[in-house]
Amino acid sequence: MRRPLVMGNWKMNGRRCTAQSLLSAVAAEAATFSDVDVVVCPPHVYLGLVGDRLGGCPSIACGAQDVSAYVDGAYTGEVSAEMARDMGCEFAIIGHSERRTLFGETDGVVAQKFARALAADMTPVLCVGETAEERDAGRTREVVLRQIDAVFATCGARAFARAVVAYEPVWAIGTGRAASPDEAQAVHRDIRDAVARHDPEAAAGLRILYGGSVKAQNARELFARADIDGGLIGGASLIADDFVGICRAA
Ligand code: 13P
Repeated sequence: MRRPLVMGNWKMNGRRCTAQSLLSAVAAEAATFSDVDVVVCPPHVYLGLVGDRLGGCPSIACGAQDVSAYVDGAYTGEVSAEMARDMGCEFAIIGHSERRTLFGETDGVVAQKFARALAADMTPVLCVGETAEERDAGRTREVVLRQIDAVFATCGARAFARAVVAYEPVWAIGTGRAASPDEAQAVHRDIRDAVARHDPEAAAGLRILYGGSVKAQNARELFARADIDGGLIGGASLIADDFVGICRAA
């Protein structure tokens, strides 16, 4: 009943010409993955270009990699959720671990950004996940549920009625070492149960993506698990054949 979702997070990679050729290659194969929602998230500066290119390809949507915690105003360098929506973004990645660790985003800031995305009529994609140290200390569940609860505290009991969650263990991002399907499934189940305690209806329909070293080779086995509804893809989303292979696996 939950439609699979595969999102490509390009991070800070590419140029105009590579964005165009990647999009063309993926769009040319779009007919071969009709049972999955596909979203690409380019750097903000290329949102217009991507939106224009996807105008002719309604089966692929556009997402922002981040939005500001503020509404429009004197915030030099920031991009508001309203602006991203205005450029055609339907989704916004919120609280990616790179934002949390490299740019100091706290659970509170992440929750504010989540609220801004909702207010701008976008679907927030909340990233959660534990570091290697937290995992080794047996704290995965505690960390992930704390990150979820911060959003409930700010946005209320219906926070996830229109949202996506991405479980991205920090130790799996860009390392080539994905979580095993069993390991990921257990955390996804915990996330769904945690949301259900506030909002059973939202929990049943909530798409929970796995992210962290997903490749065409391991995607099918991950996506086959009951609570893994697709993937948030980094490195492999920059290579058309790999990304298309992952979309087909969903
Ligand atoms: P990789 O797929 O490169 O491990 O990155 C995952 C990620 O951070 C997606 O947001």
